[in-house]
Amino acid sequence: MTRVLEPATEEVLAEVPSAGVEETDAAVARAREAFPAWRSVEPGDRAAILHRLADALEGAVERLATLEARNAGKPISDARGEMGMVAATFRYYAGAPERLLGQTIPVAGGVDMTFREPLGVVGLIVPWNFPLTIASWKLAPALAAGNTVVLKPAELTPLTALEFERIAVEAGLPDGVVNVVAGPGSVCGRRLVEHEDVAKIAFTGSTEVGRRIAEGAAATIKRVTLELGGKSANVIFADADLEQAATAAPAAVFGNAGQDCCARSRILVERSAVDRFMEALEEAVESLRVGDPLDEQTEMGPLISADQRAKVESYVNGDAPVAIRGGAPSGRGFWFPPTVLCPVSNDDRAAREEIFGPVACVIPFRDEAEAVRLANDTIYGLSGSIWTRDGARALRVVRAVDSGVLSINSNTSVRVATPFGGFKQSGYGRELGPDALDHYTEVKNVYYATGG
Ligand code: NDP
Repeated sequence: MTRVLEPATEEVLAEVPSAGVEETDAAVARAREAFPAWRSVEPGDRAAILHRLADALEGAVERLATLEARNAGKPISDARGEMGMVAATFRYYAGAPERLLGQTIPVAGGVDMTFREPLGVVGLIVPWNFPLTIASWKLAPALAAGNTVVLKPAELTPLTALEFERIAVEAGLPDGVVNVVAGPGSVCGRRLVEHEDVAKIAFTGSTEVGRRIAEGAAATIKRVTLELGGKSANVIFADADLEQAATAAPAAVFGNAGQDCCARSRILVERSAVDRFMEALEEAVESLRVGDPLDEQTEMGPLISADQRAKVESYVNGDAPVAIRGGAPSGRGFWFPPTVLCPVSNDDRAAREEIFGPVACVIPFRDEAEAVRLANDTIYGLSGSIWTRDGARALRVVRAVDSGVLSINSNTSVRVATPFGGFKQSGYGRELGPDALDHYTEVKNVYYATGG
């Protein structure tokens, strides 16, 4: 049995049977058996089942949100928003089965056409920071395209995935189409990666494990999509609405207690605006409400585990001075105060590595060229923001920054209908939007000789 903890109290929230290789193999076998029938369900019928699942998820938002808030330590208001997105993601992809279009291509002597075929059994390996949300970004397009799936949640946060499996069956997904194996990544995740009957792995997590997955998948030429770490830049020019940029900055790095691959944890500020920006930032950080995830007013909860807290702590009290420190509860729970380091050199360890905690680095820059150079001076390329009132400059900078998801005068990264994914060591492949479907289908080309 795995003891699942509540990070805000360190109490045991649930005990879950721990799956191993045998259970993983059995799940893959069930998914494999279910695949021929599921891929053959008429597109309209498959769409109807997914709409029913979206309905059921909408009805379960409150229950799932409470479970996620307690298990992942995230504020209930955030968890509610995330569970709403889970339902919306299924709603969006419920429209896909009837829109998986091929092409007809003019060729000599016949007709050439393409089909989008499902891959088969897809293994989904997800992390603990947005447990069911990230799972839904993989589940919904995979199922809509006619694949069957084995989902491996993180051992720290398996509860909403297990609940999802029950909801899916009740909503009418045939047996074996969705299978959840809750067990360690080094056992169940690894087995999925090496399993000959798994056609693809869709993974979100650390760059280090992503690298191992890509290596392991090579043995069976599995398809792989990887959504990995980030060290994104929030670039703030002196001509921006500094008040607005400073008010928005804390949520962009302290949201989910900084345990967010899109965290804009490098705040690049034009040198002439640093003092004014820091003043406004201090006010915003000090007013952040850190505490009980189930309190409606809470904006930041605890970290996921003692290990994560120790990792985050190791980045504070290094080379860069602590400029701002917010409050956090004391006593039981994996609490960590929102922390801003300033000034930070982009060469400092805190600016180079993904901290995955509520620690922001403020890095001053001289001009546009230096801002772009610093933004790109990282192994990652997931998200980022540009704040300026100069529209032409905003467009020049976003085109020059090597990153998969950028926003101008906003810190948002994720929408159901738009592609999400990274450049460089932030991974490859795209989730959400129409692009995700490309990664859950193969293109089949058929030539029909008509003679003459
Ligand atoms: P991991 O990358 O280790 O975990 C992500 C998922 O992969 C989990 O389900 C994990 O299972 C599974 N996994 C672990 N090892 C293997 C393996 N050998 N083969 C297949 N699957 C495996 O992230 P952590 O949870 O350990 O977090 C460590 C750091 O990673 C964080 O501090 C952060 O920097 C980064 N991270 C980035 C995320 C992102 O969204 N980009 C998300 C999470 C972490 P299990 O945990 O059950 O063992």
